[in-house]
Amino acid sequence: MQLASNRGDTGMGMLPGGDAQTLLALMHARAEAARLGEREQLFSTLLGGVNAVLWAFDWQAQRMIYVSPAYERIFGRSPALLLADYGEWRNAIYPDDAEYAQKSLLAVLDEGAVETREYRIIRGDGQLRWLSDKCFLGRRAEQGQGPIIVGIAEDITEKKQLEGELQRLATTDVLTQSSNRRHFFECARREFDHARQFATPLAFLLLDIDDFKRINDTHGHQMGDQVLQKVARCGAAVLRQSDLFGRIGGEEFAALLPGCQPDLAEQIAERLQREIERVAFTATNGERFRVTASLGLTYLKASDAELSAVFARADAAMYKAKRLGKNQVIVA
Ligand code: GH3
Ligand code: MG
Ligand code: MG
Repeated sequence: MQLASNRGDTGMGMLPGGDAQTLLALMHARAEAARLGEREQLFSTLLGGVNAVLWAFDWQAQRMIYVSPAYERIFGRSPALLLADYGEWRNAIYPDDAEYAQKSLLAVLDEGAVETREYRIIRGDGQLRWLSDKCFLGRRAEQGQGPIIVGIAEDITEKKQLEGELQRLATTDVLTQSSNRRHFFECARREFDHARQFATPLAFLLLDIDDFKRINDTHGHQMGDQVLQKVARCGAAVLRQSDLFGRIGGEEFAALLPGCQPDLAEQIAERLQREIERVAFTATNGERFRVTASLGLTYLKASDAELSAVFARADAAMYKAKRLGKNQVIVA
């Protein structure tokens, strides 16, 4: 009875029962295949539109089992090669970040998700790019198989560049390109704590341009600005990479020299004083002039509980240099 009614419903009354069932199954399979095909098309369109690489990784086999089309665009490399060899992804990671990338991938096995992974890759065309590569522990359909890790890797290079630029703007003095007061003291405080903790030497130098108001008044504010820029360049030229240098006031600069013994610090301060004195400026009326600076130098002492104590000593030394006729270094 069942079969008879089926025949009637499908209009296949002429077919023997077995053939009709086969045909029905076939039609069902075709419909299902078409439905899956449509879904795949839909997913493929969606994944193609997302500007991030979606990936799935078989942990036990150490094999990439899926990577979305954006891989080719973001990595500038072939997905087929990656699917054949996971080493392709590892080799794309910037060498300095390789250990971090591997460790943070491992961490997902314990933690279930790692959403803060950021590292650099070298694209196929040699470009360095920043990635945010979040990963999560995925579930396997079948029991007894090892874990799969799924992830979403997004190119965040522009965001990183913007962050870097904002950081630079927040920490740099626009006119002289040296550290601004806030950034200088932030870093100086860290160096001060470190030097106290490890009982290492530390020198602190304050510099104030002599008669700067007169330079402004005589040659104009713009010329004054040029003097400030040049003095900052002298500072950068005389100091070492590991020293801190900042503009902490209008015509006042400070330097902190970590690990620097008194003798060397004094030589550096005197060289800076001479460098500044040597620079010749040409005013708009053609007049040539020079500038000088007064410097106060001091060192970290065991009794200095705060950076402010060191700063106050350098400040007093600098004012003494002014009182004693300017253009000199006074050590306190
Ligand atoms: P002293 O030898 O005792 O240090 O005297 P001085 O004239 O250098 O010191 P004073 O503090 O009297 O003057 C500092 C001047 O620095 C006053 C201010 O107009 C000028 N100044 C501060 N910031 C800037 C700046 O960004 N550009 C220029 N051109 N001048 C500035
Ligand atoms: Mg001053
Ligand atoms: Mg001054």
